[in-house]
Amino acid sequence: MKSLFRKENIACCCVALSLVAASNAFAQAPSYDLILQNGHVLDDKNHIDSVMDVAIKNGKIAKVATHIPSGDALKTIDAKGLYVTPGLIDLHVHVYAGTGERGSYAGDNSVPPDGFTFRVGVTTVVDAGCSGWKNFEDFKQRIIDRSKTRVLAMLNIVGSGMRGEKYEQNTADMDGEATAKVALKYPETIVGIKTAHFEGPEWTPVEQAVIAGTKANIPVMVDFGADRPTRPLYDLLNKKLRPGDIYTHMYSGLRQEQDPVTKGPSKAFIDGRKRGIYFDAGTGGGSFKWSLAVPMVKDGFIPDSLSTDLHIGSMNGATKDELNVGSKMMAIGLSLKETVAEMTSHPAHEVKRDDLGNLSEGSVADVAVLRLEKGKFGFTDMVNTRVDGNEKLICEMTIKDGRIVYDLNGMEAKLWNEPADPHASEAYHWTTFAPRGPRQNSKPVEMPH
Ligand SMILES: [Zn+2]
Repeated sequence: MKSLFRKENIACCCVALSLVAASNAFAQAPSYDLILQNGHVLDDKNHIDSVMDVAIKNGKIAKVATHIPSGDALKTIDAKGLYVTPGLIDLHVHVYAGTGERGSYAGDNSVPPDGFTFRVGVTTVVDAGCSGWKNFEDFKQRIIDRSKTRVLAMLNIVGSGMRGEKYEQNTADMDGEATAKVALKYPETIVGIKTAHFEGPEWTPVEQAVIAGTKANIPVMVDFGADRPTRPLYDLLNKKLRPGDIYTHMYSGLRQEQDPVTKGPSKAFIDGRKRGIYFDAGTGGGSFKWSLAVPMVKDGFIPDSLSTDLHIGSMNGATKDELNVGSKMMAIGLSLKETVAEMTSHPAHEVKRDDLGNLSEGSVADVAVLRLEKGKFGFTDMVNTRVDGNEKLICEMTIKDGRIVYDLNGMEAKLWNEPADPHASEAYHWTTFAPRGPRQNSKPVEMPH
């Protein structure tokens, strides 16, 4: 019994509260784990653009309604003045880090996902071709299975993946059949096929990627590499790819994306979009120019999805992160609503994962709470020119599978000298990412993947 009478008031207080909580539990258990109240919900898939409350239970969205009373949850968070959106999906990243391979996207050029996702509201990333069918399983056990971030993958059509020149230019290692076989083995994780960086005159990588994509019934994403007269962009988007395939780096200007006269989209782009090709930002280190983005957006040729092409270079360059890419597009005319759609339901749809990127009741409770900061901001591109803006998206809170995984200003936390909530010990399971010195003796639960 000695421990009950320790000097620390906090410990005594928590023991007392746990007893109260335990007795209350029999009386009336709250219906929900978390409620986000008073936030402006932007949910493209469900056409919601208004102030609503969002309730979460057991890792799922339980209810979205105009008023859900605080007493119904273990923890209520006031999101007044903030935007509540589905957890963001970054459709093009490089996260096969940790192999130790120099100068390789299956190595040093990649970043570990958890360090770069939750802090900007991202809960799902799609690795764009770092691994191929030969090293996907290494990528899976090294990163995908160990990350808190939901990591989906596009398999590189190159069997060895994105390991540098000598691998990526080797057409003998581009096998659509073998690639499809591995994609079909992991349908939960492999959501696309990627071809990238090819400099040769042949169509081999695109053709093999389409074979793999067709067999596995998943889209192909193309980084079209060097601009070659033998394989024009028009033919790629209008003959070789299928409707539903994805063209990334849309504002790079490296491969006939822009009409030289009008400065708007090229005929290849206009006709490609008409037949159902998706266009993705993938701003990266060297794939986004204001001299394309400004006139093309003005012309109405906006992206279907906003992705970063995150890697060790772009994260410190003009791209920085998903919210910076979103803020950039808003600076040249996209609405907040459109921007959020392009970071949530749109990318989910492109990779046939319509279960993600929305706040439908029953969906996984991946949520971003964003603040639209007003001020003076500058946004740069690959050739170091700038657009100024007066708004910037900041992530205040990220929830993944119903658990708070990032909380910039401690929105959910009590002041240190306030008494704990009556449900603090149960709420703790949903309000903490890393164990941080429990205020009572309940054990933190491992977060589901
Ligand atoms: Zn990339």
